[in-house]
This record gives sequence, structure tokens and C-alpha cells, in this order.
Amino acid sequence: MDNLETFRSWVKDSKRIVFFGGAGVSTESGIPDFRSVDGLYNQKYSYPPEMILSHSFFMNNPTEFYRFYRDKILIDGVEPNITHKKLAELEAAGKLTAVVTQNIDGLHQKAGSKTVYEVHGTVAKNYCTHCHKFFTGDEVRDLIDESPLKLPTCDNCGGLIKPDVVLYEEGLDDEVWSMSVKHISEADMLIVGGTSLVVYPAAGLINYYHGNRLVLINKSETPYDKEANLVLHMGLGEVFGSLEV
Ligand code: ZN
Repeated sequence: MDNLETFRSWVKDSKRIVFFGGAGVSTESGIPDFRSVDGLYNQKYSYPPEMILSHSFFMNNPTEFYRFYRDKILIDGVEPNITHKKLAELEAAGKLTAVVTQNIDGLHQKAGSKTVYEVHGTVAKNYCTHCHKFFTGDEVRDLIDESPLKLPTCDNCGGLIKPDVVLYEEGLDDEVWSMSVKHISEADMLIVGGTSLVVYPAAGLINYYHGNRLVLINKSETPYDKEANLVLHMGLGEVFGSLEV
């Protein structure tokens, strides 16, 4: 049996699959991994992405934050790809208990997944920093979609709106974290995909898995390759596209 066949047979035999995913899940939907800083970023922005996406930067330079956020994070018109769709099908078939994701784009829910733990938050939720009024991602997009960029402010009190994404220097949500740990520790198969497993603490989640079907799907090597029961150095679309649910 080759690796892909082994993967498919394990999926077939498992009943409590958890998928833990990173940026590679969404790159096939056209969302760039902002951590892969290329010349384009360097030309267009005066600061590295990790600095722009930090709490202190948001507080001190909200306009520059939102310029990056609008161009690179809150991307309009993106759709779920085959990986998102197959994961939603696995959940609907009663085989997958949860998706845990480092992505903030909301594409798993858009594909139909119900139980999704977004450890780094989501662009779909936004709150006024003053009165905590809620705004959707589309509402924020409409507010900032002007040239020159206009800061999104609350129609209730005039306060600045902040996306409910976990910025650098900010802690993870306790509830989301503990539910992610619970699902992973109870899983009979853990599929880790599209993440190089170098961003902590999220990457440490895989240590909570205690079964013998740990599958890593990533185009390049990760620090966990040796610990996995199966490693597929392939694109996620190729792997999930071959899956019959
Ligand atoms: Zn407000």
C-alpha cells in the first residue's frame, strides 16, 4: 500500500478524526501565507508582517495596520477549496469531530463545517474597542474599503473597531484552547495539514494526541515528521481530492 492508500484506509477506519490545519489549507483558495515575507511586502510596507500584526502596533498605528489587514488578510471573494469541503463532508458523515485551525479566514464554516476551533481567532468577528458592539467581517470591509483608507469606527460610540484575531503579544482564548485540547486528546486519528508546526503555542497542540494515526501532510518537512505515523509531502488538495467520503 502506498502512503496515500494508507491515509485513505485510516480515514475509512476512524470514527473520531480531528484535523489541525495551518496556512497551507487556505493558500489553495488564494490566501497568501503572510509569514512568507517576499519582496512585495518589503516594497509596499515599512514594517514586517509580524510587527504590523501585533497588539502594540494596532494601538499605535491603526491606519497602517488596517492597510495591511485590508490588502493581505481580509481578502474579498475567496472560496473554500476541496480540502475545506472534504473536511465538512467527513464531519457530516459522523467521522470527524472537529477542525482546529490556525487560520482566521472563516473558510471552514463557509464550506459547511460546524465544529471549528479557531485558535488565532477570525476575521468574521469584530468588536468596538470601546462599547464592544459586534461587527461582521463584511461590515468592516465596507467601512475600510475607501481610498485613502478610512479607519473602521463604531456607529454607536465612535470607538475603533478591532478584529477578533489573536495578534502577536496577545494570549489565546482559554475556551477555544481547552476544547481543541479535548478533541485532539480524544481523537482516534489526527491529521495535521498545511502547517510547518513552528508557530507556538498552537503547534504544541499535537502533543495532546495519544493515538497511533498521526498523519502529517505538508509540502516541506516539519520538526514532527519523525514522530508521525504517516507523512505525506504532498499538497493538501491532492490528498483530500483523492478521498471518497
Ligand atoms: Zn462602540
